[in-house]
Amino acid sequence: MPASNHSRILIIGTGFAGIGMAVRLKEAGYRDFVVLERAAAVGGTWRDNTYPGCRCDVPSHLYSFSFAPNPDWSSTFSPQAEIEAYLNKVTDDFGVRPHIRFEHEVLSADWDDERSCWRVGTNHGELTADLVISGTGPLAEPSYPKMPGIETFKGTVFHSARWNHDHDLTGRKVAVIGTGASAIQFVPAIQPEVDELHLFQRTPPWVMPRPHRDITSAEKAVFRRFPLVQKAVRGGIYWGREALVLGFTRAPQIMEQGQKLALKHLHEQVRDPAMRARLTPDYTLGCKRILISDDYYPSLAQPNVSLLTDPIREVTPRGIVTDDGVEHEVDTIIYGTGFRVTDLPVMDMVRGRTGETLREAWSDGMQAHLGTAVAGFPNFFMLIGPNTGLGHSSMVFMIESQIAYILDAVRTMDSAGIERVEVRPDVQRRYVDAVRSKMENTVWTTGGCVSWYLDSQGRNTRCGRPSRSGSGS
Ligand SMILES: Cc1cc2nc3c(=O)[nH]c(=O)nc-3n(C[C@H](O)[C@H](O)[C@H](O)COP(=O)(O)OP(=O)(O)OC[C@H]3O[C@@H](n4cnc5c(N)ncnc54)[C@H](O)[C@@H]3O)c2cc1C
Repeated sequence: MPASNHSRILIIGTGFAGIGMAVRLKEAGYRDFVVLERAAAVGGTWRDNTYPGCRCDVPSHLYSFSFAPNPDWSSTFSPQAEIEAYLNKVTDDFGVRPHIRFEHEVLSADWDDERSCWRVGTNHGELTADLVISGTGPLAEPSYPKMPGIETFKGTVFHSARWNHDHDLTGRKVAVIGTGASAIQFVPAIQPEVDELHLFQRTPPWVMPRPHRDITSAEKAVFRRFPLVQKAVRGGIYWGREALVLGFTRAPQIMEQGQKLALKHLHEQVRDPAMRARLTPDYTLGCKRILISDDYYPSLAQPNVSLLTDPIREVTPRGIVTDDGVEHEVDTIIYGTGFRVTDLPVMDMVRGRTGETLREAWSDGMQAHLGTAVAGFPNFFMLIGPNTGLGHSSMVFMIESQIAYILDAVRTMDSAGIERVEVRPDVQRRYVDAVRSKMENTVWTTGGCVSWYLDSQGRNTRCGRPSRSGSGS
């Protein structure tokens, strides 16, 4: 593909969002598009998160593109390497790799109102494009907590999303900070290797049993021969998960049943009542992302694991001191502290019609029409924008819904000869108001937790139910 400086469409990122967008554009007959990726390979989340035990927690038949079913998933919740390989396969099968420029990091994107195009600054110079579609990911930037004294620590420190595979954990004294979705996967995986594992927990998660099993070769043969069967399975998983939304929004008794199931799971797996008490959440199920695991609780009960719930006071050269004054000696600190979900770098990168950044435009909270188009930012679309995060289902479903909306906009621009599209502020306002009012009395706002769905002002800008079923971790 010749490297031109101007493209009709410029996509940022090669995770599920960027690759899905590129495939759909190509299928619709568009050729003049470029995909910029700062890394050297495709995969996004599934390229970057290589920690032991990493796998999806939405069943693979649903956590994949509807247009690229994979009859060969090895298990109900497939491991990271398999999902990364799937994204590479989709990239090649649909011929989008020649459109990708790897190791091209977008540093800025400024709307040029006079020329009606975007000026995109990259580490390889400036490009221009009529439209920019951002697929930079909600969970692409690791979040590092502020721990006083961390710079004095003499051991090894890394984040689960940037796993240090050169650092052998055998026989080590390891501190894990955080008990979210990643930690509950890698803690059981590393526990047998390490000498001591000190798990620092701020808030215990709700953990449900994981209905995990290998997919048999007979099942795979059926899926290959009769794709409709796999489609039906996908549909069943989707609707089963949608039923949970009733519990999140209207019927708390559904959540009560879920909580009973999770408490039973905890009771069966942890015998020590004191430990059980520390592992019991004090907020409603669903307020934070619901986690699934069959090996997390048993790993905590092992003699080399200590569960610490006192807040961290400081880090010393030799370990971590908690508020009770005890120094926990460790030689490795692993952050399982998640991602900068409501403080995304794209917010400072993109400047719209008036020269305002997204961050400035969002001083009253992140907002976008259908989580995709932002008033004041012509010809700009976001995949997994504000209020698109899901706590119960596949983000790939959400991404595909947004892709359909964007493709519709691009086609309409072409057929009607429109040079620029921009959502009207009043339309965006009505949409955002509707989402906020629907959010009242849901588990996310009344469930009694601080979650990644809420921004620093306590506004829910990630999770929502847009009326077009065009709806994170
Ligand atoms: C460990 C883990 C497990 C998860 N499991 C699930 C699950 O089971 N189910 C589910 O629904 N969701 C899950 N998620 C959420 C997951 O992030 C989304 O499902 C999905 O993968 C997001 O895809 P994306 O393309 O939007 O973003 P990403 O996959 O993050 O891709 C973004 C891409 O943009 C690139 N990029 C970012 N900034 C720039 C820039 N300035 N210039 C150029 N390139 C840039 C990045 O390098 C990256 O390749 C999980 C997340 C994590 C971290």
